[in-house]
Amino acid sequence: MRPLIFSAGNPCPAPKTFPYLRKDGASRLRLKNFIPLLLALFALILLSGCASRSEAAGKPKLLQAVVTQVSDGDTVHVRLNGRDEKVRFTGVNCPEISHPSLGIREQPYGKQAATYTKKRLLKRKVWLEFDVGQRDKYSRLLAYVWLNPPAVFTEKEIRAKMYNAELLLNGYAQVMTAPPNVKYADLFVKFQREAREKGKGLWGVAPVVTKPGKPAGKAAYVGNRRSKVFHRSDCKWAKEISPANRMEFGSREEAVKAGYRPCRVCRP
Ligand SMILES: [Zn+2]
Repeated sequence: MRPLIFSAGNPCPAPKTFPYLRKDGASRLRLKNFIPLLLALFALILLSGCASRSEAAGKPKLLQAVVTQVSDGDTVHVRLNGRDEKVRFTGVNCPEISHPSLGIREQPYGKQAATYTKKRLLKRKVWLEFDVGQRDKYSRLLAYVWLNPPAVFTEKEIRAKMYNAELLLNGYAQVMTAPPNVKYADLFVKFQREAREKGKGLWGVAPVVTKPGKPAGKAAYVGNRRSKVFHRSDCKWAKEISPANRMEFGSREEAVKAGYRPCRVCRP
């Protein structure tokens, strides 16, 4: 396990020792010896006051970093506090580019997403925001990537300045919600819906679902190749599956035999 990065820059370190307290009795202590200690305590109280005020205002802490390398559409390397860190964008998933060594095949629009992220982020200064879980099982940081620090954390600012949102709005990524990191999940679903309805990016590579309840195919059941979950074709989640990940099944048995689990919402 790598260290949590917030612990590295604790702005309010507690004094490790109290050199003014002597073992040989308080009566020998003189007031002037206490003055620096009192000043230090006063400063600590002020600092902690500031910290709790900014938390109360609901302002998440952002860490500045520089993007040094782009792995694919949703993964980059950054320089953060003098260290190289791999960062996976939280709540979104771009189509894969090919990784022959990992047995991963290229997905439609994977290359475009990677090229777009390179164009937008490489060598750029960014601000990272973390959700509840800071790292994934591969030790990558999980972050919301801000192109500019937002003045307020409103939908308008998120649309304009957060790169995770930009990927969704332009159809370079789909929503991938992984609890407990769900801070912006509802907004992300909304952004994805907008991109899908406009046929943007990956949503334009195959026939787009237009009428609610009437999927593009005739199949009764629809699965997601990535999550291995299958749905009734009129389930709202079935419509969130990108063309690249969409699998159609004629029957429930067919889906189960292919190793898919039933959706807990539409209970196919
Ligand atoms: Zn479903």
